[in-house]
Amino acid sequence: MSSRAFKIPYGERHGELLHISAVERGLRCNCVCPVCREPLVARKGPKVQHHFGHLPGANCSAETVLHQLGKRLLHRRMSAAITAGDELPFEWLCQHCGDRHEGNLVTLADRAAMELDLGVCRPDVTLLKTDGTPVAFVEIVVSHAPDENVLAHAAAHNVTLVEFHLNAADDLEALEQSPTLSATKVDVCTRPKCTTCGCPLCHKMVHVVDGECWRCNAPMKIAMLMVEGTPEGPERFSERDCAVAREQGAILQENYSRTLQKSYLSNTCGICGAFIGTNFLHEYWPLVDETNGHATGDMCLACLESE
Ligand SMILES: [Zn+2]
Ligand SMILES: [Zn+2]
Ligand SMILES: [Zn+2]
Ligand SMILES: [Zn+2]
Repeated sequence: MSSRAFKIPYGERHGELLHISAVERGLRCNCVCPVCREPLVARKGPKVQHHFGHLPGANCSAETVLHQLGKRLLHRRMSAAITAGDELPFEWLCQHCGDRHEGNLVTLADRAAMELDLGVCRPDVTLLKTDGTPVAFVEIVVSHAPDENVLAHAAAHNVTLVEFHLNAADDLEALEQSPTLSATKVDVCTRPKCTTCGCPLCHKMVHVVDGECWRCNAPMKIAMLMVEGTPEGPERFSERDCAVAREQGAILQENYSRTLQKSYLSNTCGICGAFIGTNFLHEYWPLVDETNGHATGDMCLACLESE
């Protein structure tokens, strides 16, 4: 990122960060750079996006300014939420299950501290409980990866690690203004876990499609389970899945497969009694409209058990 490309949206006056929209133009803005402490000029012309700029000859790093502003804006926002007793909603794309999760960034927090010295590390912002134990470390990531020591300390002490990666001025304004903050990375999966193996549970949907019997060609309802993109046949259905499938006209019966040498629940033709074996069910997957099924709860794809 070049210094020219980054248009600084906040300046500092008497220790407070002010948005460019809140100050007079030129040097009358009376603001300094939060990093180099040199005076800033408020550029509020008709052509470019309003922003602060350094005077010619200033020696300052855009990355450092972006990092510093991000840290301070987020600290201010978290502190304000804690003081007011409000939640601070945030969301993130989960690296464990691929869902978007939501939460309250200041949950359990009594105080937000910037650059708190923890001996082994100094996270950008540390959220602390009333008794002083850290609940979360928040790292602002601009050009460098987060400090290894912060990652290690978070993992060792069971502290939630939240990362906000910033690229541009817009990201700073989002930190100050957006009703729900978008974190880049959070090491938490809020999905319920399988009680047997501990894996995150997957949502399942019963789908019943219109097909025809492979033997007598009579129209036939065929029920399947879609577990987040993984199809499963009636042999994996829970009682509830069966009830939903039958309500929609599927005929599910225990049939004996000579190939597999066992009986299992399968879609059955109401006219001739032929059934669709597990190995043939995939022929009907293309008929499934994934947006239009009946949610019937969760399943563990590792144990193939419904919860
Ligand atoms: Zn500066
Ligand atoms: Zn998750
Ligand atoms: Zn499991
Ligand atoms: Zn038939």
